[in-house]
Amino acid sequence: MLNYYQTINVNTSAAQGGAATSVLVIYTGGTIGMDYDPSGKYLVPFDFSQILKKIPELSRFEIEITVLPFEQPIDSSDVKIHHWLNIARTIYDFYQDFDAFVILHGTDTMAYTASALSFLLENLGKPVIFTGSQLPIGARRTDARENFISALEIAASRHADGTPLVPEVCIFFANLLLRGNRARKVQSLDFTAFESENYPPLATAGIRIAYNHNLIVPPPEGTFDFYSQMDNNVVFLKLFPSISNQYIEQVFRLEGLKGVVLETFGSGNAPSENGFISTLETAIRNGILICNVSQCNGGAVIQGMYGTSRRLRDIGVVSGGDMTPEAAITKMMFLLGNANDHAFIRQRMAEPMRGEMEWQRK
Ligand code: ASP
Repeated sequence: MLNYYQTINVNTSAAQGGAATSVLVIYTGGTIGMDYDPSGKYLVPFDFSQILKKIPELSRFEIEITVLPFEQPIDSSDVKIHHWLNIARTIYDFYQDFDAFVILHGTDTMAYTASALSFLLENLGKPVIFTGSQLPIGARRTDARENFISALEIAASRHADGTPLVPEVCIFFANLLLRGNRARKVQSLDFTAFESENYPPLATAGIRIAYNHNLIVPPPEGTFDFYSQMDNNVVFLKLFPSISNQYIEQVFRLEGLKGVVLETFGSGNAPSENGFISTLETAIRNGILICNVSQCNGGAVIQGMYGTSRRLRDIGVVSGGDMTPEAAITKMMFLLGNANDHAFIRQRMAEPMRGEMEWQRK
């Protein structure tokens, strides 16, 4: 595994009895892993072998923790498809050895990585919980400690019969456990950085962690597997009033372009001008997949509700329903990377695969 170096066994004293839940923590980078250097002036990546010194509470957990850090921790703005594939492959390789996985990740693109992982991992039957923090682990008022401890506790929680409580890809942040492909980063300064406007939290952490069991996916029936392809020949096209046709035409001229996530107004509305519609229509005829998601955080695209979205439906734009833009673009990358049949890709784009959207009314 090229991108990682040695594993660190945290061996919490309470876990040494033997029957403890085992959790693999994959540390990718981001603010959560930063600490001040000895001068106290500069933030540098934190040495995870010292995690018990930073968070002594971990020693009271009956969890066997193994940390697998990226060789070079990255700011999540530098995340690329190969990092997503690498995390998916690592979870696959260690799937039988651990009961659960916690991924420490920068907050900036965490919703993209969590969405991508939800598509790459098929028949997931174990928790994969992403977390991070707004302040470095070494900062006085850090939120890293709370987020990390609760993420571990959620990852390790099991039903009486031993099956995991949350066999899904999730984001835990500031008291909320959210489905990963429903979450968005909505705050760059407050601790409450993530929200999931279209799907309620899977759990809320107060004095105790209250799970909404009926919202969590049931354990899968098939065998766990992972996909190793994604295609980045996709773009976002965000509409704004008075957007020029020249700009739109240039986007569709991009060499190799296969898919466009069109960010529209309200419930999926777009300019009704003929020039705009015919550019999209030609692109669709040339085999480009266009998926309509809303610029609103909540609600859904309903093509045909207004005249300004009916034309999109009529020319073959796929409705993204209530998907987040993060889920839509990573789903597109996933589908284009793993399938060739246009009709199949269009159909899958419009229906739920991993709980990322509601079924849409026909
Ligand atoms: N820029 C950082 C990152 O996403 C911010 C964070 O971790 O919160 O990696």
